[in-house]
Amino acid sequence: MIDLHSHTFFSDGVLIPSELVCRAAAAGYKTICLSDHVDFSNIDITIPRMVKVSKILTREYKIKVIAGAELTYVPPRMIAQAFRMAKNLGAEIVLVHGETTVEPVPKGTNRAAIEAKVDILAHPGNISKDDVKLARANKVHLEITTRRGHNKTNKHVARLAHIYGAKLVFNTDTHTPEDLMNETLVKSTLAAAHLTAKDFKTMQENAYNLVRMKE
Ligand SMILES: [Zn+2]
Ligand SMILES: [Zn+2]
Repeated sequence: MIDLHSHTFFSDGVLIPSELVCRAAAAGYKTICLSDHVDFSNIDITIPRMVKVSKILTREYKIKVIAGAELTYVPPRMIAQAFRMAKNLGAEIVLVHGETTVEPVPKGTNRAAIEAKVDILAHPGNISKDDVKLARANKVHLEITTRRGHNKTNKHVARLAHIYGAKLVFNTDTHTPEDLMNETLVKSTLAAAHLTAKDFKTMQENAYNLVRMKE
């Protein structure tokens, strides 16, 4: 299993990276990306620490740990700038906290993330047709999420991604250990989004390929 969206207590997750990673390995994960919430206040503090601990944990435990970040509520016109900063600081995978329907995420966030060519647009809510088309062209992966609330629009995201050929990844957006991926959670999320076990396999492959491309 691979999961490219998780939080530690460097933002609003409950675990320190080492414990999250051990729990993920115990749950059968092969790869996990630590993607704490960042904006211009903490981006330079958080990412170098994730880079440091990811190297240690990958070496010491039987799991590949990726240093990432989730640009969160960054003003849309500054997303491209924050994305460059994140990459320069060493983030391998950069997500943007997309326009979920359950939060007042600034309008234009989805579009700005896709234009900036970030790696993953997380929980993109009622993303438009044009944005999905552009995501395909710009090779931005769209997220199917197990997270309650954000998962309400999975079906919409999956449908448009299939029609317009955008790539999907399947993430948990883990904040607590109970959020980690397991069979029951995967099955119920897929069913609600009208996705199949084959789609899940494809989404996992997309995630592995994305990581490989960044190496
Ligand atoms: Zn969070
Ligand atoms: Zn998140």
